[in-house]
Amino acid sequence: MSRVIFHEQSGAMRPVPKLAPGEAVQDTYGRPMRDLRISVTDRCNFRCRYCMPREVYGPDHVFLPRSALLTFEEITRIVRIALTLGIRKIRLTGGEPLMRKELEVLVGMLSGLRTPDGMAPDLTMTTNGALLARKAKALAAAGLQRVTVSLDAMDDAVFQRMSDSGVPVADILGAMDAATEAGLTPLKVNMVVRRRMNDDQILPMARHFRHSGRVLRFIEYMDVGHSNGWRMDEVVTGAEIVQRINAEFPLVPVQAHYRGEVASRWAYADGGGEIGLITSVSQPFCGDCTRLRLSPEGKLFTCLFADHGHDLRELMRTGIGDDILAAHLSGVWLGRTDRYSEQRGQAGASGRDNKIEMSYIGG
Ligand code: SAM
Ligand code: SF4
Ligand code: SF4
Repeated sequence: MSRVIFHEQSGAMRPVPKLAPGEAVQDTYGRPMRDLRISVTDRCNFRCRYCMPREVYGPDHVFLPRSALLTFEEITRIVRIALTLGIRKIRLTGGEPLMRKELEVLVGMLSGLRTPDGMAPDLTMTTNGALLARKAKALAAAGLQRVTVSLDAMDDAVFQRMSDSGVPVADILGAMDAATEAGLTPLKVNMVVRRRMNDDQILPMARHFRHSGRVLRFIEYMDVGHSNGWRMDEVVTGAEIVQRINAEFPLVPVQAHYRGEVASRWAYADGGGEIGLITSVSQPFCGDCTRLRLSPEGKLFTCLFADHGHDLRELMRTGIGDDILAAHLSGVWLGRTDRYSEQRGQAGASGRDNKIEMSYIGG
């Protein structure tokens, strides 16, 4: 028997679907709810120009107060329930997730959770790496499985211009080594490519990470939020990136691992490993988008480009039971119709006034 519970957002009675172990709640396009990205803070120690430009995120910027953040117990409760609805992968992000104090404590709480069929969920983190070297061991010991480290250039001057920080590239490479040593592998590297800012770094990055056992993923510069002044002519498409690399190091396409895999994959023909392309602008993948996002203050977002979230924090703080929370979570997914990247450029799509910022919701 499925439970029938009033769902506030849709204004409709919605049964919480009865799921066999391994099954997931599906949205209006039949997309299963599989990945949960948890932004644990809106703060960051970098000011990447494409994400948190200093003109917008200067000394006067007001970040969320600590009392507004979900506690580790609240996050863990949401994840525990999300696992019963189909979530299999959890990614911690931010802002910069390592700016959240004692993140390893949250990792320990999450790594103890199990899916209804007794599986440990995949538990990973995306970080800029600046604080990773000192944290890697504790995170791994607490149960973090892997990390993705963002790095936009090999050249110090370009990297520091992109991240608007004084951190040298060597520090981030050192953090990757510390993560590898701690067993947070296979390690992925995210590079956002912005024309005229760092596209001259595509080949140096490819050269560096070939044969390293680390998968370099090139991300098309996206029109997330409103702060970065995004322009289409600054996007370097995945196809152009492949073409540039292929001219020096021949590439062959690789099959996707699973439905909802974000990156399209290519392998170096000489066995030098793989690269990934995240082509959200030139080849949107909304049809396979299985990602749900939780903001630092407990709002659920069903799309990176959403202009409003569904508040779980207030609900939880009124003392609701797990059944209602589950109904809320599944109701949000059942009513999901998002496919922004496929609609980008069509009338009305890019005119959204209140798109959330990447630094608030994470990648
Ligand atoms: N601070 C962490 C980091 O940078 O890895 C985690 C949060 S960050 C928002 C997550 C990912 O989003 C990073 O890899 C970052 O490069 C990417 N990102 C941020 N703004 C972007 C944009 N406008 N277009 C494409 N990717 C972006
Ligand atoms: Fe910070 Fe990550 Fe955004 Fe850069 S991309 S400003 S490191 S949150
Ligand atoms: Fe998913 Fe929204 Fe991105 Fe489409 S635009 S892939 S629905 S997050």
